[in-house]
Amino acid sequence: MKNQSLNLESVSHRFGNLLAVDDVTLSVEPGEIVCLVGPSGCGKSTLLRIAAGLEPLQQGRVSIGSEIMADGSLTVPPEQRNVGLVFQDYALFPHLSVRDNIAFGLRDVTSAEKRERTELALERTGLQRWADTFPHELSGGQQQRVALARAIAPRPRVVLLDEPFSGLDAELRHQVRDGAAAILRETGVATLMVTHDSEEAMYIADRIAVMREGSLRQIGPPDDIYLQPTDAFVAAFFGDVNRFRGLVSMAGVETPLGRVDTNGFADGTEVEVLMRPEAVVLSDTEGTVATVKNARFLGRTSLIDVTIGDGEAIAVRIRVAGRQLPAAGTRVFVRRSGDQAFIFAPGTPK
Ligand code: ATP
Repeated sequence: MKNQSLNLESVSHRFGNLLAVDDVTLSVEPGEIVCLVGPSGCGKSTLLRIAAGLEPLQQGRVSIGSEIMADGSLTVPPEQRNVGLVFQDYALFPHLSVRDNIAFGLRDVTSAEKRERTELALERTGLQRWADTFPHELSGGQQQRVALARAIAPRPRVVLLDEPFSGLDAELRHQVRDGAAAILRETGVATLMVTHDSEEAMYIADRIAVMREGSLRQIGPPDDIYLQPTDAFVAAFFGDVNRFRGLVSMAGVETPLGRVDTNGFADGTEVEVLMRPEAVVLSDTEGTVATVKNARFLGRTSLIDVTIGDGEAIAVRIRVAGRQLPAAGTRVFVRRSGDQAFIFAPGTPK
């Protein structure tokens, strides 16, 4: 079957008075993985359920390729959409072995192909040694992998995943994620995946869609989302940010960490400047004088909180690679590293 895109057009959805999805338009191309991220309750799962047909469409249109799945007048039932699903409440067939669970959806193929696809899905999800066991003998994480293997084995047109790796420990998570991404890309399926983990989205997604309160705030490749967030909310979703306020003058704004160039803001405009902790560094020789408040070693990085100035001191958070733990009270210099700073007009969403 020809690879096809998933298209959501102007989709809105209400639960009573709550506008859970607010006019979302989003396409996922064949072979593409799009991650939906956003705070809890922002409408990610509802959007996925609408795409799957598990939630009746109230407004807008859902199509796969040129085929309409749901609009004002028509609804294709979920089982006829040729969509692979892995939802949080995945249900495996309890009376079937892992292998048979995976093979279950492989209907219109030869038995040789059925065997081959099942074995491939078992291998890619690291489940070979569990092939002959039954769901009740598996841990939650293992069951989740079976659900994933079962969804992708029939090579559906579209795969919808809701937190598919959440039950797995870190090592297994990497392994299963890589295996799943490889199969999804190989088969040219359009994948829409919900995750609450922004790093996971950065790792796996071709594009990330950031949602807030039902609406889509920004969609783009991970680089764009991280390096060119369209508002303070998107910038802050990917980790802590230092926030400073300042007035634009001579095309720049003064911050406690030096002057930042501005673009497109008139002199006198009050702006908010955001800097990620990793865009600030400690220096032995130059920068703004600061005092270490505390420092914590997190493994790959250390977080150092400093204050600038006396009295109403300004707090700044710094993230450095490896283990660097200056004692509380130490006087240090801090400065920006590179030019990564985001400038927004006040009133843009936090
Ligand atoms: P999470 O990350 O916590 O899973 P989410 O972004 O997936 O959240 P949704 O599950 O889509 O969010 O929920 C969006 C909003 O709609 C929430 O405020 C939720 O309480 C509400 N909601 C979801 N399902 C229903 C329902 N069946 N009836 C009423 N309200 C619902």
